[in-house]
Amino acid sequence: MNFKTSRTVMWIGFVIGIIVALIGTSGGNEVTNPWLFGIGMVIFILSLLQAFIFYRCPICGYSLMNVKGCIPKYCPKCGEVINDVQR
Ligand SMILES: [Zn+2]
Repeated sequence: MNFKTSRTVMWIGFVIGIIVALIGTSGGNEVTNPWLFGIGMVIFILSLLQAFIFYRCPICGYSLMNVKGCIPKYCPKCGEVINDVQR
């Protein structure tokens, strides 16, 4: 998977996971639907896990999870330009 796609998938997973989990709690503090809440948590965790696997520098493989904010223009480890790389 492309590291940019991975980042997008991560955020979509976060949003969907949180929404599904919130539906499982009916918006309150009590879990009214454990299944929905569980599925939401699984989606959230899976989206995070795939980001640790795929959200990496395409050149040296350095995990970009260590970089805060948006996708960096340069890899903090190898210094290569990564935000313009189309692969
Ligand atoms: Zn790199």
